[in-house]
Amino acid sequence: MEYLSTRDKNLRKSAAQAIAMGLSRDGGLFTPVSFPTINALEVEMLCTMSYQRRAAYIMGKYLENFRPEELEEFAHNAYGPEKFDHPAVAPLRKVDGRTWCLELWHGPTSAFKDMALQMLPQLLSASLRMTGEKKTACILVATSGDTGKAAMEGFANVDQTKILVFYPENGVSEIQKLQMVTQEGDNVGVCAVRGNFDDAQNGVKRIFSDEEMRETLARRGYFLSSANSINWGRILPQLVYYISAYCDLLNAKEIKLGEPVNFCVPTGNFGNILACYYAKRMGLPVGRLICASNCNDVLTDFIRTGVYDRNRPFHTTMSPSMDILISSNLERLLFDMSGGKDGLVREYMDQLARTGRYEITDGMKKRMQEVFYGGFCGEEDTASSIAMLYRYGYLIDPHTAVAAKVLTDYRKSTGDKTPAIFVSTASPYKFCDSVLSSIGQAPAADSVDRIAQMADITGVAAPERLAGLKGKDVRFHDVTEKARMDDNVLAFLQ
Ligand SMILES: *Cc1c(COP(=O)(O)O)cnc(C)c1O
Repeated sequence: MEYLSTRDKNLRKSAAQAIAMGLSRDGGLFTPVSFPTINALEVEMLCTMSYQRRAAYIMGKYLENFRPEELEEFAHNAYGPEKFDHPAVAPLRKVDGRTWCLELWHGPTSAFKDMALQMLPQLLSASLRMTGEKKTACILVATSGDTGKAAMEGFANVDQTKILVFYPENGVSEIQKLQMVTQEGDNVGVCAVRGNFDDAQNGVKRIFSDEEMRETLARRGYFLSSANSINWGRILPQLVYYISAYCDLLNAKEIKLGEPVNFCVPTGNFGNILACYYAKRMGLPVGRLICASNCNDVLTDFIRTGVYDRNRPFHTTMSPSMDILISSNLERLLFDMSGGKDGLVREYMDQLARTGRYEITDGMKKRMQEVFYGGFCGEEDTASSIAMLYRYGYLIDPHTAVAAKVLTDYRKSTGDKTPAIFVSTASPYKFCDSVLSSIGQAPAADSVDRIAQMADITGVAAPERLAGLKGKDVRFHDVTEKARMDDNVLAFLQ
């Protein structure tokens, strides 16, 4: 399987090159030249397999130069019992007669980012071997919370890699900060930035585009790389759980082979829902793809009107991982919807950079609306969605609550009775504050104490690693000025 750039289809790379590079030099995203199929017989065969073997089989279709045994080993390392606290890895929970919830947060950091970031480091290491790259990859991350921790947990002690995470000093939750500054591993570094997330992100971007820095690091034996969801190695592992969920419904005799299932995905950067779309392109019987946003509803408008317009107020919400106005992975969908028409995506992305807005063709809009539905959910509705599911005995986080509500709205407005799965992207214990308030409880003063408080009140066990944060050794104390982040990188990569 070869990969081309969304901005130039003549630019082709192998899977290993695409993963090692992360982003194409022309600014485009690497996308498979075509979609391998998955037929009914294969789905039946996958039904008999563990999650790990399903992952190796499905990813193998896109990674032709990787050996099957190697992929099985990666999957066992990524999704084994030392990492995931549920034997099914990504279990389905039945909510009512035709609704299920796909829980993607049983990994080491209790957020769905683990599904990809437990796999990406292994794919990257193998890609470096295959391309003959001798330098060490240094992953630079600016994080608003979840990605930094999940990336470190994935890259800790992985050969030929180092990882340095920058987070805004006062911009992450107390739990998220503790998760990061207590991170173990010889090749990891964490540093707070005096500033907000944009400052940290701009600092990282500046370092990436600094030629002199690139040369200095190359002399020292390093090159910079990214663990962001623009990397194909982060999207690919996410296809697996959609196909796996379908198999689980078949195994439970809830659906018949070939029967369509709808998915509702809480969306930020459009990586997760794109993976579902790719699974559908492979032939998985997916009906409608429901894209759920919080009150940052730029995608809802886009799906309804064909106009993408980021010129609007930015809202801070209780589902922070979806507080985003530019969804990078939408570019891959545009490329597919345009039928690969050369230059069109580049033009849209230029317009977006210049004016913050673009409008797709009527043909593309029609194709998009046949598959996608967009909806959003405000803060009050998010809280009542948490409260309602809690009354039914199911404790969910705010991101998941947005998806649950948008699915209900979708069914009401369309009358579509197709069996549906909404996707759960974080453990409620990562957002104790919002969850406790939503179920009518006053959160304890200390943020770590809220974990035990919520477990007491709800009777739902907290993930061990979050509960274990109390009293864990803090390894990282660095704080830097936003203009001095380069110095931190140079000191980290001696
Ligand atoms: C990252 C994240 C999302 C958004 O996923 P995308 O792939 O960026 O659309 C949703 N929920 C949680 C909890 C996340 O961490």
